[in-house]
Amino acid sequence: MILRYSQSKEQSAELLRIVLARMGQHDAAFNPLTYTVWFEYAAGINTRLNHAMDLLMRGGRRLTDDDLLMLYQAHVAELDPQAMHRIGNELQKVMVTLADAAGNTGNSADQFSAQLDTLAANLQTLNNQLMAPMVLQVMESTVRMRSSAHALESDVKGSQSEIQRLQNELNRVRDESLIDTLTQVFNRKGFDQRLAAMLARPANEARQHGLIMFDIDHFKAVNDTHGHLKGDRVLQAVGEVFRTCLPPDGTLSVARYGGEEFAVLVPDTTLEECLKVAEQVRAHTKALKIRDRRTQALVLTVTMSGGVALAHPEDDTHSLTARADAALYRSKQDGRDRITCA
Ligand code: GH3
Ligand code: MG
Ligand code: MG
Repeated sequence: MILRYSQSKEQSAELLRIVLARMGQHDAAFNPLTYTVWFEYAAGINTRLNHAMDLLMRGGRRLTDDDLLMLYQAHVAELDPQAMHRIGNELQKVMVTLADAAGNTGNSADQFSAQLDTLAANLQTLNNQLMAPMVLQVMESTVRMRSSAHALESDVKGSQSEIQRLQNELNRVRDESLIDTLTQVFNRKGFDQRLAAMLARPANEARQHGLIMFDIDHFKAVNDTHGHLKGDRVLQAVGEVFRTCLPPDGTLSVARYGGEEFAVLVPDTTLEECLKVAEQVRAHTKALKIRDRRTQALVLTVTMSGGVALAHPEDDTHSLTARADAALYRSKQDGRDRITCA
């Protein structure tokens, strides 16, 4: 693991302040990408970046989103996603500490004002005309102090939720390297990670983890007859079928496993549920109509075969994938456009 960011919490808090101030003076949006560029600039850890940015900002020029994207791609992009995740975590830590500190200020102001309440009550029983107005004055300023401490606390909480939003953005950026650009479902790397994670977790009682492998039928003929671009459109449309057929809560993951092969992970399922998912995807794919964009004339339809396997406790990623693949192969042999169980 490279140690690209080795700043201590105090140093990174200082950088956070500098970065936010600098970002405010320019036109680019506040997002993880622009933050990262400014962070590296402020930390002075990337000489080429600083040189390029200084040139761009000559004459007080304000940097735009395009500038920041260009700078990111040219000078920061080799940054690994784990490092980005870590920046997010460090920011989060800084903010939590600040919120704690502000919370404590609020509490001590509360205690102080309670003590003054008692003092005022005591003084009033003594009926000391001279002292009472002064005490009231002190009490008023305490109330003000308390409300500004509360305001500070809520400011910091607000920043914390902003930081949380940045953190979520960072996570999304990280996930993007796991998404297939053509079909917008997980790519093979995303699939491998999620399959391993699914198998590492035991299924609930009387349930098993399921894997469905799909392969578009006679896809080579689609390319040969209609061209590779139409073939790509079919792949996109099939990706869309998966995204509409599967529940939106992300409990099931779909991935483009290879060229025209897709895989669905169905955690904690039964054979019946798994088959239902597979059949639904198969039926929706068969109902797809790829039309000419201009004339809307029907150009082609496709079918897809599938194989379902449920994981046994002794299964690893390879053995489970091999069984689902074997079931898929049987679907092909038995005439395609069907689902087979291992
Ligand atoms: P089967 O029913 O047995 O699966 O037949 P098939 O023609 O689908 O299988 P085969 O493995 O012979 O051909 C798969 C084809 O998928 C060949 C390849 O050109 C095409 N393909 C793979 N990736 C892509 C892609 O990203 N875009 C396009 N357009 N075609 C692709
Ligand atoms: Mg294939
Ligand atoms: Mg095929």
